[in-house]
Amino acid sequence: MNFHDSEKLSAMLQQMGYLETERKEQADLIIINTCCVRENAELKVYGNLGELKRMKQNNPNLVLAICGCMMQQKHVVEKIQRSYPFVDLVFGTHNIHRFPELLNNASQMEGLLVEVWDHEEDIPEDLPVQRKFSSKAFVNIMYGCNNFCSYCIVPYTRGRERSREPEKIIEEVTNLANAGTLEITLLGQNVNSYGKTLDKEIDFADLLTLINQIPGIQRIRFMTSHPADFSEKLMDAIANLEKVSPHIHLPVQAGSDRILKAMNRKYTSDQYLKKIELLKTKVPEIAISTDIIVGFPGETEDDFLDTLDLIRKAEYDSAFTFLYSIRTGTPAANMEEQVPDEDKMQRFNRLVELVNEIGLRKNLSLIGKTMPVLVEGISKNNANRLTGRTDTHKLVNFDGPEYYIGKIVPVKITEAKTFSLLGTLEE
Ligand code: SAH
Ligand code: SF4
Repeated sequence: MNFHDSEKLSAMLQQMGYLETERKEQADLIIINTCCVRENAELKVYGNLGELKRMKQNNPNLVLAICGCMMQQKHVVEKIQRSYPFVDLVFGTHNIHRFPELLNNASQMEGLLVEVWDHEEDIPEDLPVQRKFSSKAFVNIMYGCNNFCSYCIVPYTRGRERSREPEKIIEEVTNLANAGTLEITLLGQNVNSYGKTLDKEIDFADLLTLINQIPGIQRIRFMTSHPADFSEKLMDAIANLEKVSPHIHLPVQAGSDRILKAMNRKYTSDQYLKKIELLKTKVPEIAISTDIIVGFPGETEDDFLDTLDLIRKAEYDSAFTFLYSIRTGTPAANMEEQVPDEDKMQRFNRLVELVNEIGLRKNLSLIGKTMPVLVEGISKNNANRLTGRTDTHKLVNFDGPEYYIGKIVPVKITEAKTFSLLGTLEE
């Protein structure tokens, strides 16, 4: 979501006549687009600000702006005003469309300009986007979140859930297809509740059906799906719509029902596993990834063992694993029984070990198979090697000519690692 917001900011800057620099020392303007889902991301921002202060001392004309989720929190803005007054502009997630005007105003005045809106307004349509990739693109289908998982800051920083009109989405995807985009990723905090805020009768599976008909598009991905809203209708859409990739990111967060309840996730581990089982019968080649949090307040060793147990049963292809991070303003921040850091860390290491073991096993089972790979670029470590993704979102490296970049080609898998596959081009 933040990456895509940055693509919008880049495009607005381009329209204002700005050019991207290769090195930040050459920049007249630096924007930090922040995330506050976990504390680590916030700490990084403060670390960067220390460095930017020195750059600003060397070049007083340098304009510094900070935006994104972190700025939606009052205490953060106050800290910037207090401790980092050399920043020129602060704005939030709800007024990103006002950026050009705010930047003009900030450049003409002394001191820090702050404009953060508490509430979302109508979805700003027709913002320009400077796409970082030519063959794949992100498309917002909804904004905000109404789920209020007890650990999560997103509903407070991104506002209430609201869906984009399907016509607007179709128009954007059609334009992308006409410009040569092969793969689109539909973005929303909980895409499975798409349509609930619209006047018309449409749900996420219906939207997928419409997008599936757009000529030129070859792959449709989406994230993120909330397990509670993951319907059989959507499973059937994944099974039957040929362009929808056989991959689902279905964050489970924890395997203990007690913890899931305290997290306000609205499903039990059993319900979750049943959905996965059903999905696997409908789409046997499906790849499943997830998010898991360890060390949620009150999590005992037994709760954690339930998480490991669920991971073994779900057999994830991959998982993002997180240490629980206290987010001020969320219900979990005030829960007693915060788990000590050393327990969290020890559980985290065991979790990662299991996730990697299963991920490797699943990758090994692909050896000998030929898979379609969308070539994204040249491998970082080897100039003759191309890198791309299967429709199941697996990273594949293989030798091949540069003109395959941006195309979908068949690759036979020859070797498997934990996080990637090696293959040879199938002529
Ligand atoms: N809307 C998506 C993802 C939101 S944030 C969803 O519901 O799945 C991405 C991930 O960050 C979450 O899935 C969760 O695993 C993690 N996360 C969110 N808040 C967190 C916190 N306070 N501490 C640790 N991880 C957190
Ligand atoms: Fe956060 Fe839960 Fe909403 Fe995802 S669904 S953004 S985890 S509150």
